[in-house]
Amino acid sequence: MSKQVYHFGGSATSDEPRAKDKTIVGGKGANLAEMAGIGLPVPPGFTITTEECVRYLAEGGEFAAELQADVAAALAHIEQAVGKRFGDAADPLLVSVRSGARVSMPGMMDTVLNLGLNDATVEGLASVSGDARFAWDSYRRFIQMYADVVLGLDHHKFEDALEIVKEDNGFYADVDLDAEHWRQLVGEYKTIVAEELGRPFPQDVHEQLWGAIRAVFDSWDSDRAKVYRRLNDIPGDWGTAVNVQAMVFGNMGDTSATGVAFTRDPATGERAYYGEWLVNAQGEDVVAGIRTPQYLTRTAREAAGAKPLSMEEAMPEAYAELARVFDLLERHYRDMQDIEFTVERGKLWMLQTRSGKRTARAALRMAVEMVEEGLIDRKAAILRVDPMALDQLLHPTLDPEAPREVLGSGLPASPGAASGAIVLDADTAERRAALGEAVVLVRVETSPEDIHGMHAARGILTARGGMTSHAAVVARGMGRPCVSGASSISIDMQARTLRIGARQLAEGDVITLDGATGQIMAGEVPTIEPELVGDFGTLIAWADAERRMKVRANAETPADCHTARQFGAEGVGLCRTEHMFFDAGRISAVRQMILAEDIAGRAKALAKLLPEQRADFRAIFEVMSGLPVTIRLLDPPLHEFLPHGDAEFAELSETIGIGAETLKRRADELHEFNPMLGHRGCRLGITFPEIYAMQARAIFEAACDVAESSGAAPVPEVMIPLVATRKELSILKALIDKTAAEVFADKGRTLEYLVGTMIELPRAALMAGEIAEDAAFFSFGTNDLTQTTLGVSRDDAARFLGPYVEQGIYPRDPFVSLDIEGVGQLVQMGADRGRATRAAIKLGICGEHGGDPASIAFCEKVGLDYVSASPFRVPIARLAAAQAALSASSR
Ligand code: ADP
Ligand code: MG
Ligand code: MG
Repeated sequence: MSKQVYHFGGSATSDEPRAKDKTIVGGKGANLAEMAGIGLPVPPGFTITTEECVRYLAEGGEFAAELQADVAAALAHIEQAVGKRFGDAADPLLVSVRSGARVSMPGMMDTVLNLGLNDATVEGLASVSGDARFAWDSYRRFIQMYADVVLGLDHHKFEDALEIVKEDNGFYADVDLDAEHWRQLVGEYKTIVAEELGRPFPQDVHEQLWGAIRAVFDSWDSDRAKVYRRLNDIPGDWGTAVNVQAMVFGNMGDTSATGVAFTRDPATGERAYYGEWLVNAQGEDVVAGIRTPQYLTRTAREAAGAKPLSMEEAMPEAYAELARVFDLLERHYRDMQDIEFTVERGKLWMLQTRSGKRTARAALRMAVEMVEEGLIDRKAAILRVDPMALDQLLHPTLDPEAPREVLGSGLPASPGAASGAIVLDADTAERRAALGEAVVLVRVETSPEDIHGMHAARGILTARGGMTSHAAVVARGMGRPCVSGASSISIDMQARTLRIGARQLAEGDVITLDGATGQIMAGEVPTIEPELVGDFGTLIAWADAERRMKVRANAETPADCHTARQFGAEGVGLCRTEHMFFDAGRISAVRQMILAEDIAGRAKALAKLLPEQRADFRAIFEVMSGLPVTIRLLDPPLHEFLPHGDAEFAELSETIGIGAETLKRRADELHEFNPMLGHRGCRLGITFPEIYAMQARAIFEAACDVAESSGAAPVPEVMIPLVATRKELSILKALIDKTAAEVFADKGRTLEYLVGTMIELPRAALMAGEIAEDAAFFSFGTNDLTQTTLGVSRDDAARFLGPYVEQGIYPRDPFVSLDIEGVGQLVQMGADRGRATRAAIKLGICGEHGGDPASIAFCEKVGLDYVSASPFRVPIARLAAAQAALSASSR
């Protein structure tokens, strides 16, 4: 059996690897051992392992027999190092008992300080320290903490008792109380414990210690901890370690203090010490808010215009020592550290260090500056920044200083902040936006017909739908802030009003959305624009040098393409063409095409659409000059384009000269029970070849025109959606090749182009070897591939996926992060089989997953040539692809 108790500090820190291994001794224990090992002043102590915690819990709360002996030996080690004995009435050793899991976990037991005090040892402490006030203050702190966190008594009673003593004496602050007051309070505290518990406060110091150890272990299975673990994907079988450590005292008068600090500013990343401290205080006083903490440095104090002296000014020697430790720790860990320290009668003691949390902006600045300082190399800098955190920087955000009145909230579906007048339908959004008004589109839920309104709006708010609802996906793609599934809103379309919680609003009233938190606010809250320069640019350039996969964008308008290029996209991986059909000026031609009774009627409508599509593609080719553009031919079920309601049918009948009744009959014929598995994708091309022929013609004509005018010929990649069999692809490829030949003959020039397919049905992945005979490229359409593999409709999944993820059936929402275990096999198989037939086949991914770091890492492993993400995710994908390449090469 391995050792389960390790000591640190004092004469020895074990050099067994386990003694500094976070998985064994927890994060806090590992770093205490590490600090002691490099010679920093750490009060001696010992750590009981996480393994022991797991065993204790498995055995129904029984301590192992060996543990008793090991703890006794470790305690003796502390006693020897400090020269005091635990429970000694003349000169007692006091300890703290601290929990510490592998990662810092707010759900775990709070620290107990000053353990080892009782009615006898408190007198000893008073006499050896020569400070009775300090001894009794420590005792009352101990009783209250122990009663709260170990005995489970309500802390209010203790606080009330303290308030009464203060009031009786006309005191305002705790520091005004003297030894006699604290002694009196200790008496009251003990009475409270005895009354509440039915037995006296434990006087036996060993009983105190084992009670605290037990409480730490038990806290691993507390409700608080369980909730935190679930929210943060922390496995239940890690367990927590227990750290028992000799006390040092920050409450021994005016030469003592306690504080917390960061080695750099965690908000801005600036290389400046940052922190707070308090004179004559202990433990949590700094963060508890009872007294206002003081600034660490003189610069910070002066900047804030504060009076109380900084530590730099008040304790120059201890401060100089602290600054030396900061630099040492940064050099040792090669990262910004978050530190807890105490000064006892002028001597500095280190109580904790860990890599500090930071904002995205600070993460970038620190990574870049640490490379410049020679602390880390570029690879380490790239690996250190969380790609998803960049999202914070890619959208306007609410000014954190500005006041806000929150009306309600929904899901944080697409980041960024936006203010605007409420509009309740897409046409109104477009109309009012065209007049220069900022609008926020509010809908029960959105559908493809709302796209133009979503484009026109600054932000989108829906009452229904999850993180992968139409509104959420489209908004993320467009980079519009979106709050979805805000169930506290109700819309009255008749009255054109909106209720959010208790607040009644009307169309035209201004609201603000925060897509990063899901908050809905009244009026306009000022925002801050994103900055993509400086450190951000530097780090992403380093990342580009390391990455193997290309990064493209899913973009379908010249504006999207422009954004994509600005964010560094190296092509378009998915240009959907259907939105071009919804455009207000074209929808009637589209409807005419769909509802035409014969080929002649359809040809007439298509002839109207051809020049429009050509212009669309031309504009896109111009923006993407010289880069590959993958254009997907028409994909959605036709009924999505149909008129709704009598008025629209009448209007269409007027425009195209076919009776409204005939139109309605045709529309009924097109009805489908399950349109997502219905007449869509390449099935449209098979049954209405003239639609795909028109689109192909528009693509090739536009490409020829751009080649003519700019001299830079685009390489169009024509993509056929929803292919299941090679035959579908070969029929349609022949149609496209024939159209290309016709266009090239007309234009008198030949251009390079590719024809390929999406792999988005399981059958296509299985048959990828055959399909590759006709496909120059595959693009894994993992949205549909996930739907069809899981048999889960993305649009309906919100209702049950939540509980599924909560119960761990899927580790994450499979529409957000690829189900690597399942769907991933089909991707791997598709890639392998495709390459077996056609070694040079180009492989990419164009689902939502193309912007998800975990999925991107998988794409690297499969060896895809590129990932394609929404324009605003391109920088995230660039960084994630670099990280994936670096981790793959280090494996
Ligand atoms: P948390 O994980 O909540 O930060 P800690 O175990 O770090 O809890 O304890 C909180 C604070 O208690 C520390 O920052 C320190 O001020 C104080 N503390 C813990 N152990 C000791 C000790 N041995 N001597 C003095 N103060 C201590
Ligand atoms: Mg701490
Ligand atoms: Mg699809």
